[in-house]
Amino acid sequence: MLCGCGKAESPVFDGAKAFAETEALAAIRPRDAGTGGARRAAVHLQAKLSAVGCKTTIDTFSEETPSGKMFFNNVLGRLPGKTKRLIVIGSHFDTKAGISPEFQGANDSGSSSGVLMELARVLAEKGPMETEFLVAFFDGEECRIEYGPTDGLHGSRRLAQQIVEAGGAAHVEAVIILDMIGDRNLNVTVPRNSTRELMKDLFFAAHQLGVRPAFSLGKGSILDDHVPFLLAGLPAIDVIDFDYGSAPGLNDYWHTPEDTMDKLSAESMQTIGNTILRMVENLQ
Ligand SMILES: [Zn+2]
Repeated sequence: MLCGCGKAESPVFDGAKAFAETEALAAIRPRDAGTGGARRAAVHLQAKLSAVGCKTTIDTFSEETPSGKMFFNNVLGRLPGKTKRLIVIGSHFDTKAGISPEFQGANDSGSSSGVLMELARVLAEKGPMETEFLVAFFDGEECRIEYGPTDGLHGSRRLAQQIVEAGGAAHVEAVIILDMIGDRNLNVTVPRNSTRELMKDLFFAAHQLGVRPAFSLGKGSILDDHVPFLLAGLPAIDVIDFDYGSAPGLNDYWHTPEDTMDKLSAESMQTIGNTILRMVENLQ
């Protein structure tokens, strides 16, 4: 697109598009790891990711779990950079098992996946930056019984290990995990087990955009997809709003049939999208 001065217009993040992507994924339900829904979701995400201009792969792997050997599908997209420096932006796309046959997982894991897809579109349109981008949709984030070495965080553990084994750890500038960021009442509480520098980068980007009040430092740690990267020695941050319910502090929509699209807003997704985009631009 061209503006009046003849310069190409810079692509902008569109919260309405992120919302529509969320809706499309939430229609594939439920999508807990190992089910037909999860496989359909992976194929859906790969098609969308290819369409926005990423070079994509589906990384299928198996691991032992409390429910026996299970297969998982990570959906990965690459956007080349001018240097070897790498920024990973990730979201899980699986839903918690056993909630209900029609469980949407609109916020957990729809919203972060919708925002990530829209971020991929914008970053692809912008063209190569200094850093390469790896867009990662993780399978198997949710645990079956209780988080542990063989239960939950399967996709992120797999990618962290792959990056280290490929000798790429030193090139990783940031791993930014998005989770549950579509709540109408957006209140991101960054868990304390995130890399300090990246917290500062996030809060500064939010400050620059005038949305700093939507972000704060959480009271404690959270076990989420950023943890396998931290354990692998990579800088990682979890951008999560872990207060999702009918009143502050209740979190009563989380992992219940109440996690539906009507609880979300395009405005919240716009805030997250703009902030993450500014954060990664600042990291160039
Ligand atoms: Zn969850």
